[in-house]
Amino acid sequence: MTTVLSLTFNPVSENTYLVYDEDSRETIIFDPGCLSPAEEQALVAAIEELKLKPIKLINTHCHFDHVFGNAFVKKKYELELGIHELEAPLLESAPVVVNMYGMPPMTPSPPADYFIHEGDTVTLADTSLEVLFCPGHSPGSICFYNKAEGYIIAGDVLFDGSIGRTDLPGGDHQTLIGSILTKLMPLPDETKVYPGHGGPTTIGKERNSNPFLT
Ligand SMILES: [Zn+2]
Ligand SMILES: [Zn+2]
Repeated sequence: MTTVLSLTFNPVSENTYLVYDEDSRETIIFDPGCLSPAEEQALVAAIEELKLKPIKLINTHCHFDHVFGNAFVKKKYELELGIHELEAPLLESAPVVVNMYGMPPMTPSPPADYFIHEGDTVTLADTSLEVLFCPGHSPGSICFYNKAEGYIIAGDVLFDGSIGRTDLPGGDHQTLIGSILTKLMPLPDETKVYPGHGGPTTIGKERNSNPFLT
């Protein structure tokens, strides 16, 4: 069994997720958005308090708000970074984009150590997360579906009452809608959605009331 812990960081309130196995205490760190030293310390404190052992560092996509803490986390916990290969250009350009948006400077992320593909399975102790390729918000957005426990780490694909923006480079509205309809909407109603911004929702709630999907 796993637990999903959410920490919200940086000026655009990005959700960093720790998905951890309750027995082994192994954890995957998804999208470390910690930017300031205080936020980095808050992440470390959560990990230490829960006695977690970080084993994987993964980005759902590589917009700057999801990769601010990559360099810190990779070095601190000696982890390899996994992303979809179509996100590599975004990862590289993130520090420049951050400047354009007038945000505080970020430590550039190291490049990915390996690429994650549609249909891959990411494992954590005896838990499996299925990789769903959901482009549209960004070219290589990926979601992580825990079928056995009924939840998905959704990045910026689907939000409570909204969907990811598509006005950033590489974004495409029709592609995003297609990803949501073909990859996420077929999941069971009760599937819990953990998005990159805002609180959790469910597939059923979004199917019934999300104004972008009706
Ligand atoms: Zn994004
Ligand atoms: Zn985001």
